[in-house]
Amino acid sequence: MSTALVWLRRDLRLHDQPALAAAAQQADRVVPLYIHAPEEVTPAIGAASHWWLHHSLAALAGRLAAAGSRLCLDRGAAAERLRHWAQVSEADTVYCTSIAEPWARRQEAAVRAALAEAGVALAILADGLLTDPSAVRNRSGTPYRAFTPFWRSVRPQLDPAQPAPAPALPPLPDAIPEPRPLEALGLLPRIRWDSKLEACWRPGEPAAQEQLSRFTEGGLAAYTERRDYPARDGTSRLSPRLHFGEVSVRAVWHAAAETRAAQPGAEASVDAFLGELGWREFGHHLLWQDPELCCRPFDRRFEAFPWRADPGGALLDAWRRGATGIPLVDAGMRELWATGWMHNRLRMVVGSFLVKNLRLPWQHGEAHFRDTLVDWELAGNSMGWQWVSGCGADAAPYFRIFNPVRQGERFDPDGDYVRHWVPEVAGLPKSHIHQPWAAPADVRARGGIRLGWTYPEPLVDLRASRQEALAAFHALG
Ligand SMILES: Cc1cc2nc3c(=O)[nH]c(=O)nc-3n(C[C@H](O)[C@H](O)[C@H](O)COP(=O)(O)OP(=O)(O)OC[C@H]3O[C@@H](n4cnc5c(N)ncnc54)[C@H](O)[C@@H]3O)c2cc1C
Repeated sequence: MSTALVWLRRDLRLHDQPALAAAAQQADRVVPLYIHAPEEVTPAIGAASHWWLHHSLAALAGRLAAAGSRLCLDRGAAAERLRHWAQVSEADTVYCTSIAEPWARRQEAAVRAALAEAGVALAILADGLLTDPSAVRNRSGTPYRAFTPFWRSVRPQLDPAQPAPAPALPPLPDAIPEPRPLEALGLLPRIRWDSKLEACWRPGEPAAQEQLSRFTEGGLAAYTERRDYPARDGTSRLSPRLHFGEVSVRAVWHAAAETRAAQPGAEASVDAFLGELGWREFGHHLLWQDPELCCRPFDRRFEAFPWRADPGGALLDAWRRGATGIPLVDAGMRELWATGWMHNRLRMVVGSFLVKNLRLPWQHGEAHFRDTLVDWELAGNSMGWQWVSGCGADAAPYFRIFNPVRQGERFDPDGDYVRHWVPEVAGLPKSHIHQPWAAPADVRARGGIRLGWTYPEPLVDLRASRQEALAAFHALG
């Protein structure tokens, strides 16, 4: 009688789960095991992601129990704990799926060595991405540094396997100890600020599948038309689902491709959406090239950038709290704080404001997003911040400085998004909602606004701070 361990990582689902499927096919007994190893994950994951992980594991435990199995939980060094579990369960093989991040490669190497010493095989199966970020090369044999040629070359070759159904799971061996309670992993915050996230999200595979169906049946066909308008529910919001592997990227790909076949006219939207999945692939390709992507500029010249001094951190604090006096920026930051998610356009706007108008290091923004986003992903967040800052590969050129007033007028023309998140300015007409400081005094009075009292004065002058940023960038040479 053979036993296999399934080491669950960022694949918290039963459908189209290569490690579970292989174990179920090969072994008579299967032990699904999640090991919380925070010391091995660098940079450390933040509070919002921990919250998601807790609930996603709870959902997975329910799914496994309903399938006649059980989720085992442990905490500690993955190599040591896997060796222990292989011993107590008498497993001869550990199955898991890959994570294309630098710390995960180190973890996999340690696990492989520890299991080999114990005579246990390790099978790491590809998952999480559509490409192998280490293998993609341009004609000269070097990695891509720009998205468009990357995607042009990769896209026609993509042929992801059809998603596999959930396997019938063999039972656990008799000798398995009672599971640790999920609470013992300590994933939830000590001060319970998380009820606001509970109101917005239902982590776990069943909700992920519902969300994917709702999006492909409803929103996807209008994706190109709506995706840039934060007040409209125009994007999939699948990012945390993809990150934790509650749905496989292959399943998302095929669901979108089926929409193309089923809904004539949806072609452009489907292509644009698949292109966003392409950006996700590209981020991992960049991270593979530069394991320090989260913390050091891809273009190392930017290490000498003259950032502004922020004694006491007052500017950064105002940005984090959504109290900059620029309504669109504040709306984005408050959406993040309240929901753990922020619309992509706002990520660019608030990022540009932090780095270019406030001239504070992008790493501060990266770290804040890492702590507060439920969809935080090392590759996507690092690439996003470097893109916004102009120091990444294929970055927005440094002279591209988002003007939050123009962005608001263009992408939130009626001010609905700002009104929702910044109720202090909701009384202004749409002609002035994006720049209350420029509204005539009587318009402000009618809207119930006293600048500096009911809503802050702008933290910086947008035009002057833009000029200062350009001068600082020019000085870099
Ligand atoms: C400063 C900054 C930080 C970011 N941090 C993250 C992050 O931590 N995690 C993250 O998943 N995305 C990040 N993004 C990318 C993007 O904002 C989010 O993926 C997107 O807003 C998620 O919403 P959605 O699922 O509705 O996206 P959709 O528009 O529905 O796109 C579908 C999927 O494609 C992927 N995707 C979309 N846009 C991008 C992109 N620009 N780069 C990489 N992947 C993309 C995501 O997996 C997303 O779920 C960041 C962008 C910026 C500018």
